[in-house]
Amino acid sequence: MPSVRATYYDGIVSRRRDVEVSLHPQGLAIFSVEGMLVTTWPYAEIRRIEGARGPGLAVTRVEPGSTAEPRLEIEDAGVAADLAARAPLTLTGAAGTRKERRSVVVWAIAAVVSLLALAYWGLPAIAGRIAPLVPAGVEARLGAAMDPQIRAEFGGPAGMKTCTAPAGVAALAELVARYERHADLHLPLRVVVVDNPMVNAFALPGGYIYIMRGLIQKARGPDEVAGVLGHEIGHVKFRHGLQSAIQSGGLGFLLGTVFGDFAGGTAILLASRALLSSAFSRDAERQADAFGVDLMLKGGGNPEGLAGFFGTAGGGPPGALNWLTSHPASAEREAAIRRLAQNRPVLAPALTPAQWQALRDICQTTG
Ligand SMILES: [Zn+2]
Repeated sequence: MPSVRATYYDGIVSRRRDVEVSLHPQGLAIFSVEGMLVTTWPYAEIRRIEGARGPGLAVTRVEPGSTAEPRLEIEDAGVAADLAARAPLTLTGAAGTRKERRSVVVWAIAAVVSLLALAYWGLPAIAGRIAPLVPAGVEARLGAAMDPQIRAEFGGPAGMKTCTAPAGVAALAELVARYERHADLHLPLRVVVVDNPMVNAFALPGGYIYIMRGLIQKARGPDEVAGVLGHEIGHVKFRHGLQSAIQSGGLGFLLGTVFGDFAGGTAILLASRALLSSAFSRDAERQADAFGVDLMLKGGGNPEGLAGFFGTAGGGPPGALNWLTSHPASAEREAAIRRLAQNRPVLAPALTPAQWQALRDICQTTG
């Protein structure tokens, strides 16, 4: 097992310590620079925390019965990615402020009430009622727990390959920031382009949006990509991914949300798969369409692009997991989008020609 340098604080004495870490089947092993084993952290007890430098990772260990808050900073991008794929990394609210603890109590009460409602009405019917009660921090943790599952699904244990050509990343970030300003979301967006030929895009709980390279290549202009992005932001806004996760994750998932611990991987895996393979309801799709149109008219872009994507552009290879499989083309939807945009001026293009070119090349890297 190759080991890399890392910085370790044991959480008991506030002393920074240089260590060597390596990944083993049973956990993350921390060695002194002299090669003595200091401790081993089981993957299930590792949580991501704020403060990583560059492509690295900062993590802590939540050890049952321990109040220590150890901290480990790994700068090596390879080991950081490897660890991210193995551990159920979730953002911890750094041992919980009082406000957060109170919100957890409120949420626990809400969840217990929901469990009672569950007994009466069944899960699908109440998922929509529960979702609005979930604190944004809990949704963010859920998304952070689902993200590695999605990455594994698309790229194996090493994770999926996201596209990082700097000009393309900058063009996308600028568009996302513009839409974010108008979207008034409960949590920040994390939008990435995945190096994958599928004509697809989807949103997870927690503001995670993935756009496949194939969708950008298939699009006839920036308005079509911006339209799909706006639509997916609509799913984030109305927490459709969260509803779907609650619906498919079942009781175990609900209990996981009560305790704010998504380490019980099976429910997360099922919820992630369900999100990829199933469609949202027609009402949810209409809601996301309307939100996307509004975002374009406020933040730049022509809603005709979203309508157009339901025409010829969205048709991917038959049988493939593509956007139109979960978003059936319908004349009715196209017409509804055009009606929403009627008599409202297009303020600005979604992207400049240079930005559009950069976005199209986002997966082309020389290094
Ligand atoms: Zn949708």
